[in-house]
Amino acid sequence: MHFVTMEIQDKIKIGLTDEAQRYVLDLDRAYKELGDGGPWPSSLLEGIEQGEPFIDSVSRLRDAVFMQRDSESYFYPMEEVRLLAPIPRPHKNIFCVGKNYRDHVLEMGNEGDIPEHIMIFTKAPTSVIGPGAFIDSHEALTAQLDYEGELAIVIGKHGKGISIENALDHVFGYTIVNDVTARDLQKQHKQFFLGKSLDGSCPMGPAIVHKSFIDDPQSLIVETKVNEEVRQHASTELMMFSIPEIISTLSKGMTLEPGDIIATGTPSGVGKGFVPPRFLKKGDVVEVSVEKVGSLRNVVV
Ligand code: MG
Repeated sequence: MHFVTMEIQDKIKIGLTDEAQRYVLDLDRAYKELGDGGPWPSSLLEGIEQGEPFIDSVSRLRDAVFMQRDSESYFYPMEEVRLLAPIPRPHKNIFCVGKNYRDHVLEMGNEGDIPEHIMIFTKAPTSVIGPGAFIDSHEALTAQLDYEGELAIVIGKHGKGISIENALDHVFGYTIVNDVTARDLQKQHKQFFLGKSLDGSCPMGPAIVHKSFIDDPQSLIVETKVNEEVRQHASTELMMFSIPEIISTLSKGMTLEPGDIIATGTPSGVGKGFVPPRFLKKGDVVEVSVEKVGSLRNVVV
């Protein structure tokens, strides 16, 4: 199941799309007309908070739609809807793992920078934008805007002190984040937060793919293209800290909650890694793809 948040006819709705993202099923309409009267969320975030009952409801609704003579009327071609970030306004900062791919650490520095412990920073919720939305170049603030294509985890179940063995039970699904970074601000202000949190610097989506669709999140290809040129291409198996380790470490003394988003780090090939650096400029088209999850495309303005 590929869940999306979409705007259609001035309404924001929960939708279900296919892997190729050609059409969207209007789940809100399906619930209104074919639902069994059980609880139905007002947003995808609320659905994630409901957990398994939400997944069951969606399965039943999808089956009910296919039983209808006019089943096609519940689907929209992708061109007719505007996708938002699947969680347009996360309820807390987006957690991000820094320096999680060896080759990326080396392109930014040297062997001595390889972390012994997981490095975590965050991005403000106001930085989130959806697929197709514009990335503000913030020309007055930064001359070093960069991209970082990443697989992101969406938490589905409360937990603290989560063991590595149980970590994947706490996952709802996966999405894509472009951890857009103003390198000069990141350096100048020491802590990463300002350079990582400019408005528009967290493109997310297009969908949250339920974990049942991903056999092994540790063997997915992450690829970033800028103007059709491949800049990043690596498997998530190269993460130095695995998804279960990330969840376990984050939750040691801090409760993880449904809807929390964790970007798992970026492979090599960011703009700053090139000699000379190749930072983003106005008009650049940045597309981050993760195998089985989708493609997230944004233009810098
Ligand atoms: Mg990053």
